[in-house]
Amino acid sequence: MLDITPYLVGPGAEANLADRDPDSKQGFDGEKDEGTAALKPMNAKLAELQTRLWAESKQKLLVVLQAMDTGGKDGTIRRVFEGVNPQGVRVWGFGVPTEWELAHDYLWRIHQKTPENGGITIFNRSHYEDVLVVRVKDLAPEERWRKRYRHIVDFEQLLVDEGTTVVKLFLHISKEEQKKRLEARLQEPDKRWKFNVADLEDRKLWDEYALAYEETLTRTSSEHAPWYVVPANRKWYRDLAVASILIQTLEEMDPKFPPEPDLEGVVVE
Ligand code: AMP
Ligand code: MG
Repeated sequence: MLDITPYLVGPGAEANLADRDPDSKQGFDGEKDEGTAALKPMNAKLAELQTRLWAESKQKLLVVLQAMDTGGKDGTIRRVFEGVNPQGVRVWGFGVPTEWELAHDYLWRIHQKTPENGGITIFNRSHYEDVLVVRVKDLAPEERWRKRYRHIVDFEQLLVDEGTTVVKLFLHISKEEQKKRLEARLQEPDKRWKFNVADLEDRKLWDEYALAYEETLTRTSSEHAPWYVVPANRKWYRDLAVASILIQTLEEMDPKFPPEPDLEGVVVE
């Protein structure tokens, strides 16, 4: 298990993305093979915690995943949740809003997808796009999106007050690493389907996205819904870090099996 405190964006503190090393493998004394092996028992631990959460059915966990393009959101979900019962985990991806979604406020489509008792829900992109891509691509005027920081902090407070634990993960890659990953998508036949020419346009806006992330993480990391910046250039380390954050979050929730019914004298004939 890794010490997760270095990844935390302290509430009220600057996120300082530029000072955080996406190549870091802080706290892990080993390379890829050891890292991959170390994930296995963590997958098992997560599976056990999820079973307890589901059995207890009184609390719920929302995991918000954000990253630049190629940041590894899909791979993280696939590898960290390996072996966890799919019945208790839902993943929702939020893409370009439909016309119907745009006819509502930006939280409308989000709120419907939050987890129910006993559940773990992962947001693959989220309401944070409404202060990220919306800002960078100028999809709403600043006076409109700027108010959203406050809405979002309050919205997450509402979720927490009503029994949801909220944890937010930013997978932090470097611009050079993104280049490598986009090139791999171009060159490797089984990755080509993922290549999206529009990602090249977003790549040109890297600095604008970095600034938008910096301000977003700074303004919306709260005691009730903290942001963690996960070093993500090394996929195996990223998986260990994410698994560590989720295990520690779930351990703090401490879900318990419901009391056993009184089975004295009960016999199966
Ligand atoms: P992907 O994650 O590759 O499926 O891409 C989803 C795309 O939807 C990304 O380019 C996001 O920036 C975009 N997107 C997600 N949410 C919003 C939003 N609220 N407004 C505009 N674009 C969005
Ligand atoms: Mg994109």
